[in-house]
Amino acid sequence: MSLSLLAGATGAAVAVPAWVALAYLVAGVFFILALRGLSSPASSRRGNRFGMAGMLIAVVTTLVTHDIANIVEIGIAMLLGGIIGITIARRIAMTAMPELVAGFHSLVGLAAVLVAAAAYTNPAAFDLLVPVTGTEAFPEPRFMLDPIARVEMALGAAIGAITFSGSVIAFLKLSGRMSGSPILLPGRHVINLGTMATILVLTGLFAVTTPVPGWVFPAICLAAFIVGFLLIIPIGGADMPVVVSMLNSYSGWAAAAMGFTLGNTAMIITGALVGSSGAILSYIMCRAMNRSFISVIAGGFGAESGGTNGDPREARPYKQGSADDAAFMLEQAEKVIIIPGYGMAVAQAQHALREMCDLLENKGIEVKFAIHPVAGRMPGHMNVLLAEASVDYDKVFELEDINSEFATADVAFIIGANDVVNPAAKTDKASPIYGMPVFDVDKARQVFFIKRSMGGVGYAGVDNDVFYMDQTTMLLSDAKKMVEDIVKALD
Ligand code: NDP
Repeated sequence: MSLSLLAGATGAAVAVPAWVALAYLVAGVFFILALRGLSSPASSRRGNRFGMAGMLIAVVTTLVTHDIANIVEIGIAMLLGGIIGITIARRIAMTAMPELVAGFHSLVGLAAVLVAAAAYTNPAAFDLLVPVTGTEAFPEPRFMLDPIARVEMALGAAIGAITFSGSVIAFLKLSGRMSGSPILLPGRHVINLGTMATILVLTGLFAVTTPVPGWVFPAICLAAFIVGFLLIIPIGGADMPVVVSMLNSYSGWAAAAMGFTLGNTAMIITGALVGSSGAILSYIMCRAMNRSFISVIAGGFGAESGGTNGDPREARPYKQGSADDAAFMLEQAEKVIIIPGYGMAVAQAQHALREMCDLLENKGIEVKFAIHPVAGRMPGHMNVLLAEASVDYDKVFELEDINSEFATADVAFIIGANDVVNPAAKTDKASPIYGMPVFDVDKARQVFFIKRSMGGVGYAGVDNDVFYMDQTTMLLSDAKKMVEDIVKALD
């Protein structure tokens, strides 16, 4: 069989059969096509299929060429993992996706730490030993852990440990098991930088000392676990989406570093793709939220603003209406803009909403959907739900494309959204969402606002002036029930 030479984990030339290199390359191309497909709802199914095919090629190639573990053990592990994955995927509610994603990221981080630990404790099995040049006293060759592999191992373990502890905290915060409010330690930036500098110094020590002192590798992992924890606890309120996508990026880099240790090209390609696409998504979300990308990476961004989570709210007068009132006003309109948010996902109101949209369009009314980049609880959450209800993609508009149209809209129909329409983001410097671009619903002639009660708040936990505007009618009900009633009234 013809062989091609690739630079392996140790920097030494490792013989890799040409077909293996080719298979990994094809898998890599499929992953790139998957990312391209996932960039639009219209092509996302195709993108998913490319991703699945790429992963199948990568897994089969690795299994065929494996020489570390027993194939039966690998098979049992894959079967168990598959059963757990399928069970979770079937049971999980769409609204719990962000915490599930955070939980999965923590597993990627932990896997990276465990692979690095396995390679450190048994380097011969991972082909990570290099000969120490013989001397007169020791003429026969002796072996040591390759210094380059040590750096890869230390960095992989450190990034993995940061991903693990950071994702565990994100999971606890997103699932409500831990308060979403920022926890601000005094001098936290100095502590973070100091701990990161310690990791770098220990990595240097790990790379150049032979034999490696036994405490260095565990100390790197411990310091990195602490950094992950410290980076995420100061983040609260509406900033969590960026954290989820940032941890996604970290988990990719951890996997890429482990790809070097294992000498596995597919892992390097996949890790780099996940790492860079996660970083790009974080950057895009930071821009959408008007946050600084650098301060996100440093942790605790936006935390100085001090949330108003749980502050008592004064009772203010508001106008309440019924489904009949809403149907009557909607029928009079020429242009309606619908703003869906997290509450639409909770109520699963997207199908009823599509019906309402069809009825209005049949009456000659122009209907558009306005999607905020952080509406719901995961990137693209609203797009997925609207696609599920077969809403045409050409009726769905991003914030920057539709915001100017509220001035010409007769009705802004807010269904389960809250933070993304809160004008405090523009006017109140003390608000935890200050600086985030929001929909200018106050410019519409009439606003309908569906939520269950006046007591409920959005994710950031702040009051919303839109409830009390002259042109606002509150429709207090479960979103699905309210839209179904409006559909009946329109019919
Ligand atoms: P919000 O969380 O701000 O508001 C949700 C609204 O839905 C509330 O007013 C709530 O009021 C209402 N609601 C909840 N359940 C129902 C129901 N069954 N029927 C009717 N109304 C309901 O949602 P937005 O989409 O406006 O904003 C998203 C927020 O989540 C942002 O702050 C964002 O930063 C954050 N976030 C986003 C993530 C992402 O990736 N997109 C990830 C993590 C956080 P009531 O309880 O009274 O019904």
